[in-house]
Amino acid sequence: MDDMNESERGGVGRILTESGFRIKKHLGQNFLTDKNILDKIVKAAGITPQTGVIEVGPGLGSLTIPLAAAAKTVLAYEIDAELMPILAETLKSSPNVILLNRDILKADIDQDVRTLLKDCTEIVVAANLPYYITTPILMRFLETSKSVSRLVLMMQGEVAMRVSSEPDTKDYNALTVAIRYRASVKHLFKVPRTVFVPQPNVDSAVVMVSVDPKPVCPAKDEAFFFEMVHRCFSQRRKTILNNIRDAYTEKTRDEWSAILREVGIDPSCRAETLSVADFVRLSDRLTMNGVER
Ligand code: SAM
Repeated sequence: MDDMNESERGGVGRILTESGFRIKKHLGQNFLTDKNILDKIVKAAGITPQTGVIEVGPGLGSLTIPLAAAAKTVLAYEIDAELMPILAETLKSSPNVILLNRDILKADIDQDVRTLLKDCTEIVVAANLPYYITTPILMRFLETSKSVSRLVLMMQGEVAMRVSSEPDTKDYNALTVAIRYRASVKHLFKVPRTVFVPQPNVDSAVVMVSVDPKPVCPAKDEAFFFEMVHRCFSQRRKTILNNIRDAYTEKTRDEWSAILREVGIDPSCRAETLSVADFVRLSDRLTMNGVER
């Protein structure tokens, strides 16, 4: 258990010592030890006694316990089967926790919500994410789950900056646009690496993702929209004109310039300066005229 100081690490240290559990770094197991930060996450999530909470990766249960104290029900997905008996013991005084030994990326979340959280008035996701799959988890909730109203997520500081960034900043990229298409994101607070066991190599941050029930600015063909956005950012330093020409080669430079101007985009600008609405106008214009995929 590397350089852990028992008094600082509190319950996490005791559970690890007593259970003999060996931490699996490849599953992103960095356990949170600071009670103030756990309480801040629960408070930020705005949980009421009617709320159903989905937790990704309960680990040793440090966040699960305060979530369960505030919520109606907590539905916790943990991929590591070896944590199941430890969690059953840690959570024995939290009868409103439903533990599923399942990969969150393969779970049918909407179906689970319908059957297991049916008495809850709203669904909130709260998690200290396994960092190796931060983006797929976020996109899975935004693209496939229709039931979640907001997500309070701990992630790497650098990814938190990216997902909460504004157009025309260095952090703004295709992921930011994909998230902003369905949600608004707020950077809440930073978390130092020293409050985890084992310590990760980077500091973390907690963000609030508020999901729009429907996209504010919907694209006619969403699959094309997401793919086009990725292509527009494929070479960050190139202009939007050059990126779009490289992506869809069947038109001349002049034809592409005319199309971009027609939808109100300056052909000499870069993708990082464009808003979600700009990308949606371009995507709708291209799908209307049947650009090759
Ligand atoms: N919530 C605990 C805490 O704050 O101390 C643990 C957080 S730890 C950063 C991430 C947890 O996610 C680990 O328990 C890990 O086993 C689990 N995990 C990793 N990949 C997962 C997946 N695909 N589906 C569900 N849980 C996963």
